[in-house]
Amino acid sequence: MDIAANIKKFRDEISDEVILVAISKTKPNEDLQEAYDAGQRIFGENRIQEMTDKWEALPKDIQWHMVGHVQTNKVKEMAPYVSLVHSADRPKLFKEINKEAKKNDRTIDVLLQVKIAEEDSKYGMSLKKAEEFLKEQKAKDYPHVKLVGLMGMATFTDDEEQVTKEFKILKELYDQFKESNELTVLSTGMSGDYKLGLAQGSNMIRIGSSIFGERH
Ligand SMILES: *Cc1c(COP(=O)(O)O)cnc(C)c1O
Repeated sequence: MDIAANIKKFRDEISDEVILVAISKTKPNEDLQEAYDAGQRIFGENRIQEMTDKWEALPKDIQWHMVGHVQTNKVKEMAPYVSLVHSADRPKLFKEINKEAKKNDRTIDVLLQVKIAEEDSKYGMSLKKAEEFLKEQKAKDYPHVKLVGLMGMATFTDDEEQVTKEFKILKELYDQFKESNELTVLSTGMSGDYKLGLAQGSNMIRIGSSIFGERH
């Protein structure tokens, strides 16, 4: 893989308003450094321990995004440095992030992860609960957490209509609540479906294998 060329290809392809998160899980530091040298500053990981090891080893101006399921007892490890948590999906996790952010004298930005996929293997708050959460502006209960947007993962399928339908559900939720909740980020789309995400209003795409190659 020519990581630098892949970064450039994505930057050329997507508009300046879209944030490219390079998903570097399982990849060695040298690969991340190569992306960094090509100008990439936002990296996403799905395991807190691995992200922390990389944060310690790599340049300090990298913004680290957590995109994987977060166990509450691991929040304290990333609280000093994490830039955005995409996977805030339950009040208990908001509470824990709030507690650890406060200890670190900071506010942590998060996305509410909503379950939009039909397959039930995915994490995320149910659509119904997410609507309630946003309607009642529950995030305000956590002063050291700033809810900045929504994240969703579509069903893993070649059926573009299905994926589009799921992304559309999240976009509608986003539009419904973006003003009242001051949301600015809609994170949908990965290597296989980012075009469909962008077509449904995504402004943050999470690209792993199309930048760094397949994971083993
Ligand atoms: C791994 C992962 C990605 C990137 O997946 P690719 O298909 O390799 O682009 C995006 N989002 C989340 C939440 C992930 O876990």
